[in-house]
Amino acid sequence: MILKQFNELQSYLESPRNIVIVGHRNPDGDAMGSTLGLYHYFKKKGHQPTVVVPNEYPDFLHWLPGSETTYRFDWQNTQSQRAIKNSDIIFLLDFNALHRVGHDMQNTLEGYENDFALIDHHQQPDDFTYMFSDTEMCSTCQMVYHFIEKMGDVDLIDAATATCLYTGIMTDTGSFRFRSTTSLTHKVIADLIDKGAENDRIHSNVYDSSSYGRLQLLGQALQNLKVLPEYKTAYITITEAEKAANNFKKGDTEGVVNYALSVAGIVMAAIFIEDKEQNLIKISFRSKGSFSVNQFSRENFSGGGHDNAAGGKSLLSMAETVEKFISLLPENKEKLVTSYEE
Ligand code: 5GP
Ligand code: MN
Repeated sequence: MILKQFNELQSYLESPRNIVIVGHRNPDGDAMGSTLGLYHYFKKKGHQPTVVVPNEYPDFLHWLPGSETTYRFDWQNTQSQRAIKNSDIIFLLDFNALHRVGHDMQNTLEGYENDFALIDHHQQPDDFTYMFSDTEMCSTCQMVYHFIEKMGDVDLIDAATATCLYTGIMTDTGSFRFRSTTSLTHKVIADLIDKGAENDRIHSNVYDSSSYGRLQLLGQALQNLKVLPEYKTAYITITEAEKAANNFKKGDTEGVVNYALSVAGIVMAAIFIEDKEQNLIKISFRSKGSFSVNQFSRENFSGGGHDNAAGGKSLLSMAETVEKFISLLPENKEKLVTSYEE
């Protein structure tokens, strides 16, 4: 755990400030939940917060309280730039290095003259003026709860904050089932429910809101699933053509990689998703046990994340990417087959 300059930050936040809060590109439940959760808390505390989102986020998160107040950097560039320019401090949530916000926004943030405060649970974070980094934490949302706790402000957590934080903890823990879910996570969740998070409504908003296209695309993805029992590995591919045929919308592939990990005996799962817009293959890795997909992705696919959940990318074609992935398995065989005892 790294806690850097917390007392200084606490004193700095005793006066009302203009605060910009930023999550990573392609925001997920934890990025949206943590930025909006912190937003509601700062508002309550008397600050003027603005959440700036790098780009589009999935429809199943648009119901989050405060979502309508966010600026999208790619679409609302003037407002976003102005908010950043007028801010006293920028909070960076749920990512560990500035390149994770995407190229254009990274340039803007690199020119920023005031201080950054990082709250994040990813490994190997870059250095910022104020830092609260804990790679043991299941989610940035749980860290925002602890941040508010450290500020002595748990009483300021209202239903809106609680709802946002609950959502990110739920999505980043696969609904409280990943190894990173601790008894402390459940205590935090219990308090969030007491403070007004409606757990049944949140689950239903996030998980029972599939479009027909999303389910059809899931069907296609499951058809494409390949299992390599020798390496306890399974992977899924999704091409642009398959996305187009199923009326693809952002977020439709969220969580699909977990189906590959759900095959009995599998310890590493990957999904390769063609992305025409960025002209690359976006990869998600998941693992069970000691096999670190963070390390695997860092070494081979210019990515990273956590030991059991990481992302990466490839500039090769889909076929070449899959070939490269398969070619890396023999040298990792020992680590894969010993990763997890059933
Ligand atoms: P996902 O597969 O859901 O996109 O990402 C899994 C985890 O790895 C998330 O916590 C995400 O923030 C992180 N992650 C995804 N892509 C990258 C990447 O390129 N670099 C790093 N450092 N982390 C990533
Ligand atoms: Mn996260």
